[in-house]
Amino acid sequence: MAGVIDGNGIAGAIRAEIRQRVKDLQARRGLVPGLAVVLVGDDPASRIYVGRKEKACAEAGFLSRTLRLPRETRQEELLAAIGELNADPAVHGILVQLPLPGHLKAAAILTAVDPAKDVDGFHPVNVGRLVMGMEGFAPCTPRGVIELLDRTGVEIAGKEAVIVGRSNIVGKPLAIMLLARHATVTVCHTRTRDLKAVTRRADILVAAAGRPEMIRADMVKEGAVVIDVGINRLPDGRLVGDVAFPEVAPLASHITPVPGGVGPMTIAMLMQNTLEAALRAAAGA
Ligand code: NAD
Repeated sequence: MAGVIDGNGIAGAIRAEIRQRVKDLQARRGLVPGLAVVLVGDDPASRIYVGRKEKACAEAGFLSRTLRLPRETRQEELLAAIGELNADPAVHGILVQLPLPGHLKAAAILTAVDPAKDVDGFHPVNVGRLVMGMEGFAPCTPRGVIELLDRTGVEIAGKEAVIVGRSNIVGKPLAIMLLARHATVTVCHTRTRDLKAVTRRADILVAAAGRPEMIRADMVKEGAVVIDVGINRLPDGRLVGDVAFPEVAPLASHITPVPGGVGPMTIAMLMQNTLEAALRAAAGA
C-alpha cells in the first residue's frame, strides 16, 4: 500500500517556515511582504479561494489587500487598478483571481501585471524565464507538485515523468519544471493515442486533466509515484481527484489524496512566491 502524501501537513510546515522568516525580516529589516488580490465579480468558488488566501496572508504576517470589483468593471478600469498596484511599493505580489467575467480579456490583464509582482507566474515574461531556466516566478500549483516530491524524498532526476493535461497553469509549466530537474517528460492530452500505454511507463505520474477518477489501476505501473492535481465535484457532492484513489493506492509507492494533497500546496507556494518578491524588491531598492 502506498505512502499517502500529506499535503496539509507539508503545506502547514512551509507556512510555518514562512511565518518565522517574515517575523525575522520584520524585526531585522522592517520588511513586511504585501499581497494584493484582485477579485472581479462574485463567482462563489473564487470567493472561497480569495478568502483562503486572505486568511493565509494574515497568518503568515503578510500585509494583505483584496480589491473587490463589481462584475461589470470595464477593461480600462481593471487595467488602471492593476497600474496602481504595480506602482505601490507596499505591494510585492499581485494576483488577479481567475476566471474573469467573459467581457474582460484575461490575457491582456495578466500581461498588465508587473512581472516582478507576478506571483502567480502567468505573465509571458515569467513563462519565458521558466522555460529558459532564469530567475522569475513559477506558477503555484506546479511548484507545489515539485515541493511535494522533494519533501517526500522522491528522486526526480532520470525518472520517466508523465503528465496528463497540458494547460498553461498546470501541465505545461510542470513539464518544464520536471525537465529542469532532469526527468524524462511526456505530456499527454485529449489527442494522445493509447493513453494507458504512456501512463504505464511513468515512474512519476501526474494527473491534471479535470476528469473525475479517469486514472484507473491498469494505467499505473507498480511502484509509481502518483500525484493528483484534479479537483472534481461529483453530482452527489463528493470531491474527487483525477485518480481512482482506492484502486490505484495499493499499486503506487506514494500517492496524494484529494482533498489534502496538491490543493493546500498552491496557497503555500503563493506565500513563498510573495515572500521572494518582497526579498527581491528589497534587494533591488
Ligand atoms: P484544463 O481544463 O485547462 O486542462 C485540462 C487538460 O487535460 C487539457 O490539456 C486536456 O487536453 C487534458 N485532458 C482532459 N481530458 C483528458 C483525457 N480524457 N485524456 C487525456 N487528457 C485529457 O484544466 P486545468 O486548469 O489544468 O486543471 C486540471 C485539474 O486540476 C482540474 O480538475 C482543476 O480543478 C485542477 N486544479 C487544481 C489546482 C490545485 O490547486 N490543486 C490548481 C489548478 C487546477
